[in-house]
Amino acid sequence: MNTYFDNAATTKVDSSVIDEMIPFYNKLYGNPSANNTCGRIIRESVDNARFEVCKALNCTPNEIIFTSGATESNNLVIKGCSDLCCNENYHYIFSSIEHKSILNLKDYLESKGNTVDLIDCLPNGIIDLDHLESLITEDTILVSCIYVNNETGMIQPIKEVSEICKYYGIMFHTDATQAFGKLSIDVNELEIDFLSLSAHKFHGPKGVGALYKNNNVNLACQIIGGSQEDGYRSGTENVPGIIGLGKATQVSQNSLMENYSYFEKLEKYFLKKLGCYNFNYVLNGDVCCKVPWIFNIAFLDAVSSNDLVEKMQDFCFSKSSACSKGNYPSHVLTAMHVDEDLINRSIRISFSKYTTFEEIDLFFDKLSTII
Ligand code: PMP
Repeated sequence: MNTYFDNAATTKVDSSVIDEMIPFYNKLYGNPSANNTCGRIIRESVDNARFEVCKALNCTPNEIIFTSGATESNNLVIKGCSDLCCNENYHYIFSSIEHKSILNLKDYLESKGNTVDLIDCLPNGIIDLDHLESLITEDTILVSCIYVNNETGMIQPIKEVSEICKYYGIMFHTDATQAFGKLSIDVNELEIDFLSLSAHKFHGPKGVGALYKNNNVNLACQIIGGSQEDGYRSGTENVPGIIGLGKATQVSQNSLMENYSYFEKLEKYFLKKLGCYNFNYVLNGDVCCKVPWIFNIAFLDAVSSNDLVEKMQDFCFSKSSACSKGNYPSHVLTAMHVDEDLINRSIRISFSKYTTFEEIDLFFDKLSTII
């Protein structure tokens, strides 16, 4: 197996998560909505998984909607808000560094008669709060701002954005896909209305996620059917996936601090090694306000990031975010005003709790033979 430095794209599933999921495929395979003993047992397990997510976010069980992942959660928030106010023309504000599952909904909203503005990003990868405030109008109903950017790892000023939204009476959504499971998030303290997350970013299975929806706000459901998930997301639940999400949440919450300090050690080691070699490089972002497990770096003496990916095939890292393959050059680095030539030389390296110091050594040994 290659050395895996692409954990912002997806992570290895914890073996304890797999162990927890397996019985729900071959023994406890009943339908949680079934009105029989099997159904009741499965429902209880789904509720326990929901409780793990609630504990982590400090919310109540009826504020969690299980989905197929953050893409669906993001779509549910934006389309759900828009559909609820379908006869009105409202104004939405997204950060310019959102994931495509938010940004690509701009056209959808505009086709329904709404307007959408994007918040500028400062060169360090943090959104411009003054610009956000200047964009607000009396028609603004929702602001969406990513928690941790998936390409740069830059932590956005969520508390400040939320305060601005509260002051103007605007709903606030954050896409916490890269933050949940690694940073402590309290939706009450941060006064968040909606929050999206995806299990496979923190050692859970793919194809399952959740949307936190504060009880004081509402949404129009997007999948109509048997009224599962309180009517917000119909369809028989992905039970093994939900069990996996619950277990991955429990495991990550139990070692949040321990994992964070390990990430800090990895980051320190990585940056020290980066400094030891005489590479000509630019770190896209700012070490002071980024998570310690994501690095976006332009190697100026490399031909291109394509070339690096090609020549370092023993290592998995990405030249831009995996989900926006077709959208090169990166809209995030472009929003940060990174020069196009630098963008073409930029790679993203992302660690997990399984990353070792030896793997970092191997990476630099190989890199130094190429650059
Ligand atoms: N938002 C962010 C910030 C992400 O990094 C991703 C995954 N790359 C998504 C949303 C979409 O997650 P999923 O593919 O699990 O739906």
